[in-house]
Amino acid sequence: MSKHVLTAVAWPYANGPRHIGHVAGFGVPSDVFARFQRMSGNEVLMVSGTDEHGTPLLVQAEKEGVSVQELADRYNRIIVEDLAGLGLSYDLFTRTTTRNHYAVVQELFRGLNDNGYMVLQTTTGAISPSTGRTLPDRFIEGTCPLCGATDARGDQCDNCGNQLDPADLIDPRSKINGETPDFVETEHFMLDLPALGDALSEWLGEREGWRPNVLNFSLNLLKDMRPRAMSRDIDWGVPVPIEGWQDNNAKKLYVWFDAVVGYLSASIEWAYRTGDPEAWRKWWGDPEALSYYFMGKDNITFHSQIWPGELLGYAGSGAKGGEAGEFGELNLPTEVVSSEFLTMSGSKFSSSKGVVIYVRDFLETFGPDALRYFIAVAGPENMDTDFTWDEFVRRINTELANGWGNLVNRTVSMAHKNFGEIPAAGSFTDEDRDLLDDAAAAFAKVGECLEHSRFKAGIAEAMRIVDRGNQYIAAQEPWKLA
Ligand SMILES: [Zn+2]
Repeated sequence: MSKHVLTAVAWPYANGPRHIGHVAGFGVPSDVFARFQRMSGNEVLMVSGTDEHGTPLLVQAEKEGVSVQELADRYNRIIVEDLAGLGLSYDLFTRTTTRNHYAVVQELFRGLNDNGYMVLQTTTGAISPSTGRTLPDRFIEGTCPLCGATDARGDQCDNCGNQLDPADLIDPRSKINGETPDFVETEHFMLDLPALGDALSEWLGEREGWRPNVLNFSLNLLKDMRPRAMSRDIDWGVPVPIEGWQDNNAKKLYVWFDAVVGYLSASIEWAYRTGDPEAWRKWWGDPEALSYYFMGKDNITFHSQIWPGELLGYAGSGAKGGEAGEFGELNLPTEVVSSEFLTMSGSKFSSSKGVVIYVRDFLETFGPDALRYFIAVAGPENMDTDFTWDEFVRRINTELANGWGNLVNRTVSMAHKNFGEIPAAGSFTDEDRDLLDDAAAAFAKVGECLEHSRFKAGIAEAMRIVDRGNQYIAAQEPWKLA
């Protein structure tokens, strides 16, 4: 029976073009999965868009001397071109700056707040000692207290993926003039994760078939359930939909509160666009529907803790109880499918450090198939994987061109030259039957692998049959038969 399968693809920040490290994590794996699900007869909804809030955009806009909106507009177009060029088959690729997204995010926040899972707390905010003014998160960096990376931002460490508060940083410094900020009291809304811990634990305990590294990372998060700030000292973002906060331009919702809601808001936008505004509920409200979330490992926290926490609190399923809001009870992720990092010469790809291969440049030279094949067969599925040109060339030449290309080419050209069509089969020999049976059985094996996002194993099995086909032709010498 056909199933509804949500393919939820991580939202790239609209602060620069995409490089091959980005698309190795969220892009190619999600698309291979979605295409397989569609071919299997399932109803797939594949959504994403550009994430246009958060400190990375503000920092980049300042660097380029443009407004944040201009920056977001420009990079939204560039990223759309990168991803479309790669052949990613989204049903909708939208943005987090739409009115629809703001409305859906605010509904989620209100639902959580009504149920008591948003708690107002006095916390510490940074001010500049030299000017006495508030220092927004984006202007503070320091050493990550969790992994020791020296360039962690005031809201998140890109190295280990953990979310931070500016006051957590070791040796915090202002990015404007290097001074050490003073910390003063400021009020923020915190997501009451401790009240959602049991519900999260129960949900994670029922997960099956997850990649072990993703499940272990997620289970570890349960050991440190603290309330997390969901509003921030920042002037760019979704307004906090609470009296007295809505119009405060110095405090907005935290980018990660709103970005993960994008999967839901994009599904709702897609439904509106199809003319059936309630259609999204088939992927979100039916407990039989499945949902798979694709991302790089720096985003696991947000998909296995923050987003399911938001969904559980909205539904009133935590320790504080409560009622579901107007969207009703929404499905939690079936699986968080996270890749490790694609690296180059042992380092993470980094535009700022010049360790980078842009998707656009890659596509101009090689086209999408070579890159898609390489990421699927040799990407960072279960461990950090170094990209090397030698390995890329070897894979493409020996596997794609010599293996698959040669099998197709020699078969089709022999049939064309000798018959002008695919000739009718004669009686089968044992060798014929053996190969046909093996190939038929491979479909089930490959499908089983792709269904569980085991892309490398799936392709290895497909290529095993390709090799057998080539061996068969070499042994049978059909050109003599004709
Ligand atoms: Zn860190």
